[in-house]
Amino acid sequence: MDALHEELKRWFGYDEFRPGQEEIIRTLLSGQDVLGIMTTGAGKSLCYQLPALMLPGLTLVISPLIALMQDQVQNLERRGIHCATFLNSSLTKREIVERMEGIRNGRYKIVYIAPERIRSREFMTLLSRTQVSLLVVDEAHCISEWGHDFRTDYLLIGSLRERIGQVPIMALTATATKEVQEDITVQLGIEDGARIIMGYDRPNLAFIFRRETTVENKYKEAVAFLRGQRGCGIIYTSSRGECEEFARLLRQQLGEEIAFYHAGMQAEERRQIQDAFIRGKFRIVVATNAFGMGIDKPDIRFVLHLHVPSSVEAYYQEAGRAGRDGKPSICMTIFTQRDRGIHHFFLKKEFPSEAEVDRLAQRLIDLHTEGEAVRIRWREFAGIQGFTEEKVSLLLHIWEQQGVLLIEEMDSQDAVVRFEKNAFAKKRNEVLMTISRLKLRRYGKLHSMVELLAAEGCRRQAILRYFGQEGFARPHPCCDRCDPGLLTGCYTPGPVDRYPWRDVLREILPADPPVVMPRLAKTEGEEAYAIGEARDEAGLPRLYELLKSPSVNTRRMAVSAIGKIRRAESVPYLLTLLKDVNPQVRQYTLKALRKIGDRQAKSYVEEMLKREDKEYNIREAQAILKEWSG
Ligand code: ADP
Repeated sequence: MDALHEELKRWFGYDEFRPGQEEIIRTLLSGQDVLGIMTTGAGKSLCYQLPALMLPGLTLVISPLIALMQDQVQNLERRGIHCATFLNSSLTKREIVERMEGIRNGRYKIVYIAPERIRSREFMTLLSRTQVSLLVVDEAHCISEWGHDFRTDYLLIGSLRERIGQVPIMALTATATKEVQEDITVQLGIEDGARIIMGYDRPNLAFIFRRETTVENKYKEAVAFLRGQRGCGIIYTSSRGECEEFARLLRQQLGEEIAFYHAGMQAEERRQIQDAFIRGKFRIVVATNAFGMGIDKPDIRFVLHLHVPSSVEAYYQEAGRAGRDGKPSICMTIFTQRDRGIHHFFLKKEFPSEAEVDRLAQRLIDLHTEGEAVRIRWREFAGIQGFTEEKVSLLLHIWEQQGVLLIEEMDSQDAVVRFEKNAFAKKRNEVLMTISRLKLRRYGKLHSMVELLAAEGCRRQAILRYFGQEGFARPHPCCDRCDPGLLTGCYTPGPVDRYPWRDVLREILPADPPVVMPRLAKTEGEEAYAIGEARDEAGLPRLYELLKSPSVNTRRMAVSAIGKIRRAESVPYLLTLLKDVNPQVRQYTLKALRKIGDRQAKSYVEEMLKREDKEYNIREAQAILKEWSG
């Protein structure tokens, strides 16, 4: 047995690594940054936990899943590993102080934090005096605006790395399209690191999509399906009301205890239900998408969606909770046209309207005293009609991104911000545009999900293709298209009706704002990506053409690809993009120029620096000029 296997046995009691784990760990231990993509349940945690225990200093794990941190720490403790802890807003001030003290004394090897911790000056000071050996970014897709679960706080991670120095980074996720991968590596500055992609296929899952014409039929089909299921399962509904109602219906129809779970319930109650489900106290839970993050229950035999999920990523993550033990499991989706409107409702609730942006700005201005910071108490602000905490937080981040204000502190109670009164009016348009852009992306994601449900041919192939995977070995059973008799014996579906996707699309997508179908942009972006990955010089003329695309994404991907090919002849083509209206494109351009390293661009970068208003671009430009000054 070699040393790494010995460590595996010693700490975790396993004899073998799961596919991908060893490669990721060895790559990291050799000093390289790694982006690792592994499906749910494949064993991502071990990829950083084992090196963390072997390396000398501290491993910092950034995760957005606050509820999960405690589970992770407890799981380690159950294995007799007592050197892990977490810092997040669920703790009291005193607990935080104690744990920080523990970090200072070297008591911990692994510390889980939520990204907003990076705003805490105390924590950053502590880190600067601590030996950090590894920085782990879990759920790394959250750093990308193009991901399904973009978290503005994740953008802080870039600045963290700058401050703690050149520490190896391991970024992990289960779902990232090529564009999202590109964003992760650029934002984290690990473009030269390794990408270890284990593929997205889950061969033991069989996929069934069914469209019903009426809601009654949807429920009838669902009950018929459930009558044939003997194992444990999760049923996802779109709303809290539907979740409770359907649980009631099932109790009556199946004559057994059925739990429900949604974000409107008390935290304690939710916790109890989750625990009882994991321990097998009941078989079936009906839930909204609030359920399942971090559910490590191996024997879930089915996941039933009774609605259209908001993105393919969200769908696959939820469906993927089935069959973690590798045994055959079913992912069934039954939906109707009526499932369309719900997303409008959520999008409306999630993103602030124009009037709301103005109202909140006015409110802040009213609280402002010249030269002083303003303290915002979440509860008070969320009390303003129509505002949720999430909405206020999103808006604060967007304002910060646009340079309107500075968030000095932020925790679960309040936020402290500093600004100048007239900045709101000056940047009003940019802020509104950012909101529409984010909203449009979400519609794009929804559109892809609708397309997936409508796609011809094999379901698995359509899912994998969305994530950019072409090849796979078709398992048996595969999906309702490949194996129409898939469920004979326990559930016999009626004839699968053809899905009039054009009609449904028209109804699901909003008339206003007009939606640019992301299809074309996506393929062009991917085309650029492929040329870059192949380092294909012959593809350069095509890339120069793509630089003129109206799509931000295409321009961004083309610039990035040009950077990878590293030819000085490309520099003149890139220079105009230093003036691109989109700050991300400018960011990618700077990075590409830096890679190519041709100093003829120097005066252009200097000139750009005079105009640039984005902090991250200013930093990058300054770094380049410094590099080129010697
Ligand atoms: P995810 O990739 O979803 O984060 P986890 O890290 O939670 O997956 O791991 C899923 C399960 O697999 C856990 O119960 C973990 O203990 C188990 N596991 C991880 N690595 C191995 C291994 N090498 N051998 C056996 N079981 C493993």
